[in-house]
Amino acid sequence: MMNTRMWKNHDLNKNYDVVIIGGGAHGLATAYYLSKLGITNVAVLEQKFIGYGGSGRNTAILRSNYRTEEGIKFYDQSLKLYENLAGELNFNLMFSQQGHFTLGHSTAALSGLTTRAENNKALGINSYILDPKEIKKMLPEIDISDHPRFPVMGALYHPPGGIIRHDAVVWAYARGADQAGVQIHQLTKVEDILIDKGKVTGVVTNRGTVNCKQLISVVAGWSSDVCHKAGVKLPFVTHPLQALVTLSYKPWLHHVVVSGTLHIYLSQTDRGELVCGNGIDTYPHYGMRSTLGFLESYAAHVLELFPILHNVAVQRQWAGLCDMTPDYSPIISSIDEIEGFYVNGGWGTYGFKASPASGYNTAQMVANGKTPEMINPFRYNRFMENRLVGEKAAASVSS
Ligand SMILES: Cc1cc2nc3c(=O)[nH]c(=O)nc-3n(C[C@H](O)[C@H](O)[C@H](O)COP(=O)(O)OP(=O)(O)OC[C@H]3O[C@@H](n4cnc5c(N)ncnc54)[C@H](O)[C@@H]3O)c2cc1C
Repeated sequence: MMNTRMWKNHDLNKNYDVVIIGGGAHGLATAYYLSKLGITNVAVLEQKFIGYGGSGRNTAILRSNYRTEEGIKFYDQSLKLYENLAGELNFNLMFSQQGHFTLGHSTAALSGLTTRAENNKALGINSYILDPKEIKKMLPEIDISDHPRFPVMGALYHPPGGIIRHDAVVWAYARGADQAGVQIHQLTKVEDILIDKGKVTGVVTNRGTVNCKQLISVVAGWSSDVCHKAGVKLPFVTHPLQALVTLSYKPWLHHVVVSGTLHIYLSQTDRGELVCGNGIDTYPHYGMRSTLGFLESYAAHVLELFPILHNVAVQRQWAGLCDMTPDYSPIISSIDEIEGFYVNGGWGTYGFKASPASGYNTAQMVANGKTPEMINPFRYNRFMENRLVGEKAAASVSS
């Protein structure tokens, strides 16, 4: 059997039409959708290896039951693209639409979840409120008694939500882009951005200088650093987010469960591991170390919901970087002051689910020189014009 590589290595060319900084799912999806529009003189420059960032570190939860009209429509487009992606890219992405619970532990939380359910319904998204008995039927191991500090009072249930194999998404987009002629350059770090008379002209990398007509920064947790190289200041603040995985157990959890109040979430993979996470570390920084404090706090909180987990063994834990924006929505935008420069970031703790729609719309924007309607609300000037897309209530616990 011939052993073919999924993507090729290349010498770095001197000139490309488009350079994409960042080999995560968003950068690679952008490259893939650009190639579908006939733009293939494209280089993806990745400082380490593809999937090194959040795309290889996330907990792979997909859903579209957001809060605002702009957010709901965008994440719904992404979920729909995900539904056909395995076939389109001919790669088993192990997408399991097993249903997603967001638990409510107070009347205030339930009121927020009810607003989301109504907004979702109005836009055709399958998402509705369940009471504790209905929750117990679907999650028999959950404690719905009044014993926990924050008893479960209800949940927003979203049947199309679920989990996917995140690294497979990265590899599949990489292979698709490579097959169309895009060049993927790993171990290629962008050290500076070249601008002449208000127009982007190229980048300086550790492998030499590359000229380009259009440059897209798609670097999530590194967004402020890369934008700084172009002299662009956007409201990104980077926080670490931690996660852990247990050893494999017999399948018992058949849905994704999230609790905003307890700051925890969990799901079970096909291999039986529990994939677990909580909210961002409260202090901003660029370190990717996981902590004992995270493990202790996660364990204490998850046991309130699922006491049967008192004896599980943790296999490993890790952290990734999350580029938070003030309204918990992304920035996908051309930058008015620099012709040919685009920023795609602000994916916080929730961006993996957006990879297809993010890549699709970014490619359209770059190819046509016009911002598609779908992502117009995510332009950076919304912060100057007081038109925020407030998703904090729907996006805050990393899922
Ligand atoms: C623990 C954790 C759990 C998460 N769980 C979920 C979840 O369940 N669902 C969900 O939807 N989202 C989740 N997220 C968020 C999600 O992972 C990110 O929003 C998403 O992966 C961002 O993808 P990206 O392609 O934009 O960026 P990344 O995957 O971070 O890729 C950016 C790349 O840019 C590269 N880079 C940076 N600087 C340079 C440079 N100067 N030159 C060249 N390359 C550079 C980096 O090396 C990196 O590979 C989670 C994140 C973490 C950390």
